[in-house]
Amino acid sequence: MLPDYRVRQRDYLLEISRALTSRLNLSEVLRLILQQATDMLNGQAALIALVEPDARYTIRQSYGIPQPLLDQLKPILHQTENVDEAVTALEHNLVAIAERVGLGFWEVVSLPLKVEGDEFLGALYVFRMRGGGFSRDDRRILQSFADQAAIAVNNARLYEQLTHEKRRLDAILEFSADGVVIMDGAHRIQMFNRAMSNLIDVPAAEAISKRFEEVLVLKNKRAGATLEEAEAKGWPLVGSSQTLFVEGDLQRRNGGVISVEIAFAALLNREGRLVNIIADVHDLTRFRAAEEMKATFISAVSHELKTPVALIKGYASTLRRADAKWDEATVRESLKVIEEEADHLAELIENLLDASRAQAGNFKLTPVELDIDDLVVRVAKKFEAQTQSHKVIADIASDMPLVFADEARITQVLSNLISNAVKYSPPGSEIRITGRATPNEVIITVADQGVGVPPEERSKIFERFYRSESAIRRGTPGAGLGLYLSKAIVEAHGGRIWVEGNGDDRPGSRFSFSLPRAA
Ligand code: ADP
Repeated sequence: MLPDYRVRQRDYLLEISRALTSRLNLSEVLRLILQQATDMLNGQAALIALVEPDARYTIRQSYGIPQPLLDQLKPILHQTENVDEAVTALEHNLVAIAERVGLGFWEVVSLPLKVEGDEFLGALYVFRMRGGGFSRDDRRILQSFADQAAIAVNNARLYEQLTHEKRRLDAILEFSADGVVIMDGAHRIQMFNRAMSNLIDVPAAEAISKRFEEVLVLKNKRAGATLEEAEAKGWPLVGSSQTLFVEGDLQRRNGGVISVEIAFAALLNREGRLVNIIADVHDLTRFRAAEEMKATFISAVSHELKTPVALIKGYASTLRRADAKWDEATVRESLKVIEEEADHLAELIENLLDASRAQAGNFKLTPVELDIDDLVVRVAKKFEAQTQSHKVIADIASDMPLVFADEARITQVLSNLISNAVKYSPPGSEIRITGRATPNEVIITVADQGVGVPPEERSKIFERFYRSESAIRRGTPGAGLGLYLSKAIVEAHGGRIWVEGNGDDRPGSRFSFSLPRAA
């Protein structure tokens, strides 16, 4: 038979360990340990110091200890390097410090908190005023309590880490740029992140619990295998080492589709049973657009290059023919064409170089105080002299305020807009260039009576290599660079460029750009 007080102690310990191990919140566990240790030893105060992940030894929780004592303790703990030895050293220190700050504590017992493998988690210190010292029995009981406490601290810490990891993982998934869907083995959706909702315009709350195929409707499969096709062949157990992917278009809720690539990963449990399938949905819209742009670019540029080259070659070989004698006028005319076409080629190449400079963001400008009305009149005159087909009118006041701009570059913008107006409006029609001033800017407008730009194309036409369907269909020459470069130039000056209709159902378009006024 155990003596009565032993039975009570044993029951007490049992109760404590039950209470401790059922809790997972670290600060709650620490508070409980302190309270019960103080209780058990008839003490007045206690503290727990733990080895933090950064290896520093820190007071994590205290009970009944006045702030002045805590303040003196903190630096001592922080300086401690060998924590294992420090536990007992500290025990002596504590008595001295307690006395120094005028506290009546004159007994301290320290108990290391260790778990399996002797891993040192920290230590528990209990203070009491009553004399008599801690008996061996006290220490023994306390040590078995400390062992329980260590397990509880360890569990709570692991749980804290796990919760932290989970939160981090949730955040990564939620804010991933790719759509992420986690489903069970039967394809029931369990997690649906924000990017996924945006991609197909379906809120997560609606997708959860539905079948993957019901929410992500794949059309026009282009490559790879769908989940169902792969599973029919034994995936993920057979061939699981290969990444499963499928490429195609996903149906969006509001109609329309989005081009995607989906990669699937299988999560198996220890017994090899399928627990989860994780789908990563990557938006290919930009990639497709870039590919399309590249194709349009190649065809437009090669067409643009071929035409002058063919003309130059044609005229040059005609002139070279040994069997023909050309009069001087014909020779001059032919050389003129050759020269013009060579200029045209040089201009195209220069534009391509400019486009790549603009994209890299290093357009060099040499701005000066510029008489913009004078420039408009000069450029209009040049076009008026060149084209017999259109009337180019500079309708601008001669007292426009000066602007601060690079003359050659603004000439390039004006020439682009006027030559587009010529290209996209019928012969005989009028092209009018006007100007107006606001307190900070000067706005120049080139208006034509041509085919116009439909509202849905108005933002796209300033993109690199963009050419409208109708321009391509009609076979109008061009590489889709003029407006892109004009925009880059105007914006490098701190201005804007835009297009509007002519209003009131009148045909044509109005291209305007603004430039800052000279100070
Ligand atoms: P390009 O003329 O070489 O195709 P731009 O960048 O100059 O390239 O123009 C892009 C597109 O904008 C053209 O393909 C055309 O569809 C449209 N566009 C430009 N200027 C006009 C205009 N004045 N009227 C109608 N459409 C225009």
